[in-house]
Amino acid sequence: MAVTISLKAQAKAFISQLRLDYPDFKFEPGAQEHWSPRSKTVTYNLNQPLRELRYGVLHELAHALLGHADYQNDFELLKLEANAWDMASEIGHRYHVDIGSDHIQNCLDTYRDWLHRRSACPNCGMHVLQKDSASYHCFNCQTNWKVSPGRFVRSYRRKQKQPAP
Ligand SMILES: [Zn+2]
Ligand SMILES: [Zn+2]
Repeated sequence: MAVTISLKAQAKAFISQLRLDYPDFKFEPGAQEHWSPRSKTVTYNLNQPLRELRYGVLHELAHALLGHADYQNDFELLKLEANAWDMASEIGHRYHVDIGSDHIQNCLDTYRDWLHRRSACPNCGMHVLQKDSASYHCFNCQTNWKVSPGRFVRSYRRKQKQPAP
């Protein structure tokens, strides 16, 4: 009789291994994957395909290892996201997890799209640089607009699952 290890069990085994290898951080299941620098917790989502769970948890772990806590503006956030993916691929090799560049580009594109939307002037449509972490200023028509702080969320370019503007 063949023994089938369920995907959930494989996912849990992967998390257990990471817990052993990275005892400085907590790993907790949750609805949304993220890294919390304050509680040193990597939150992972078990309700997804095993491959994506692995990519996701490695990505959040990379944020943890890189000490990502804060950023000054949206553009910097995009840079930190790219750094986290580089690190995630490196860690992945140790666990025989190969994070495809398609997946990484797709995730980064989500951020680029998000940045593009946030940087568009609501009055004239001009794309401008961010003024500070919470606001933009249009050099063309002098409109100011506020934005919610960006955050480290991993998401794909899915219509329903974009980070909120
Ligand atoms: Zn404008
Ligand atoms: Zn991230």
